[in-house]
Amino acid sequence: MAQVILKNIKKVYPHHESKKKKKGAEDKQLSLQVTDEGVVAVQAFDLDIQDKEFIVLVGPSGCGKSTTLRMVAGLEDISGGDLYIDGQRVNDVAPKDRDIAMVFQNYALYPHMSVRENMAFPLKLRKVAKDEINRRVEQAAEILGITQYLDRKPKALSGGQRQRVAIGRAIVREPKVLLMDEPLSNLDAKLRNQMRAELIKLRQRINTTFIYVTHDQTEAMTLGDRIVIMKDGVIQQIGTPQQVFDHPANLFVAGFIGMPQMNLFDAQLVCEDGQYAVKLDRVQVVLSDAKQENLSRKQVKPGPIILGVRPEHLQLTGEAEQMLHGTVEVSEMMGSAVHVHLHAYNRDTILIVPTDKPENPVSFPYGSKVCFTFNGSTAHLFDPDT
Ligand code: ADP
Repeated sequence: MAQVILKNIKKVYPHHESKKKKKGAEDKQLSLQVTDEGVVAVQAFDLDIQDKEFIVLVGPSGCGKSTTLRMVAGLEDISGGDLYIDGQRVNDVAPKDRDIAMVFQNYALYPHMSVRENMAFPLKLRKVAKDEINRRVEQAAEILGITQYLDRKPKALSGGQRQRVAIGRAIVREPKVLLMDEPLSNLDAKLRNQMRAELIKLRQRINTTFIYVTHDQTEAMTLGDRIVIMKDGVIQQIGTPQQVFDHPANLFVAGFIGMPQMNLFDAQLVCEDGQYAVKLDRVQVVLSDAKQENLSRKQVKPGPIILGVRPEHLQLTGEAEQMLHGTVEVSEMMGSAVHVHLHAYNRDTILIVPTDKPENPVSFPYGSKVCFTFNGSTAHLFDPDT
C-alpha cells in the first residue's frame, strides 16, 4: 500500500536561494508569485494519489514540477502544508526513511562500479543479504532487458541502457513510491518513444505508486492514469488523459494538451430563443445539449468568447460563401492525413485532412483558399478574460 497525499503544499525559495535558480527558467520566474519571504515556486498543491496509481506532473519549464517531486522525496523542505505517505505525515521524515526511490534525468550512476554493483548499491547500504541482493538485481535486469550488461561499466552503455540501469537501481529496493524526474529527456526521439512503451510495460510488472515529471504532453498523455497540469506553481487541472483532452479547464490547458494544438478563434456566444450558439464570421453553430445545459446552469451571458476546436475536428468543406475560410500557409503530408496550416481570422489555424477519403484533396497549394466548418459537440468555449 502506498497512498500519497499532498495537502495545501507550498514551497517558497528564499530570495538569496532563488538567485541560484536553474538556467533557462529566468523569464518564467517573472510570473511566479514573489513575497517578502521569497519566490513561491509551488502553492496550494492538493492531490490524493491512490495506491499503485501512475501520476504525471506536467507543465512548461519552471512551473514547479521538480520542486513538488523533490518535496515528496524529502530532498527539499516543505514550506507549508502536509505530506502523507500511507497515512503518516512525513514532512519531517528523512528521505531515507520515506521508502521512496527516485530516477533522475542524468541517470546519476557511479562510473567506477559495474551495472550489477550500481544496482546492488542501495541494497548493500540497507544490509540486505547477498543472495537476496543477487535475486533482486537479476530480476530487475531481466524486467529491463539489461541482463547481458550486468558486468559492464556505465561508460560502455548507450544512453537508453544507462537509463534502464538507473531505473533498475530504483526498483530493486521495491520502494513504496517511485519518483521519476524527466527520465527520458536525455534520449533521442526514437529511443524516447521506445522507452516510453517500456515504462508502460514496467508499470504492469511492478506493484508501486509512480509520480512522474515531464514537460512533454505526449509522455503525460500516454503514461498517466491521471495528469496534473501545472503553470506558475499552481495546478491548472487534474484528470485522466481523456478528461483533460475532452474538457480542458482553461485556455492554458487547451493549448498545452493535444498535438497539434487546439485552434482558437475570437468568436461570439449568442443566445436566441433560449438556445446558445457560437458565431464566427458568417457561421452560426448551435451548441450540443450538454453544453446548452452547462451554459444555462451557469447563466452565461452572450458576448465575446474564445472558441476552441481541435485540428481533427475542423471539417473541410467545398468552397461556399457561408463557410469559414482561410489561406494556406504550409501543408504537411503525414501519410494518413495532411496537416494544413492556414491563416484564418487573424490566427494560425491547423486542419487535419484524412487522406483515406477519396473526396479529400491531398494537395493544398500555398496561398490557396480553403473552406471549413465545425460542429457544436466538439466546440470548446473559453472566457477571453482567463
Ligand atoms: P520545473 O521542474 O517545472 O521546471 P522547478 O520546480 O525546477 O520547475 O522550478 C520552479 C521554480 O523554482 C523556478 O522558477 C526555479 O527557478 C525555482 N527553483 C528551483 N530550484 C530552486 C532552488 N534550489 N533555489 C531557488 N529557486 C529554485
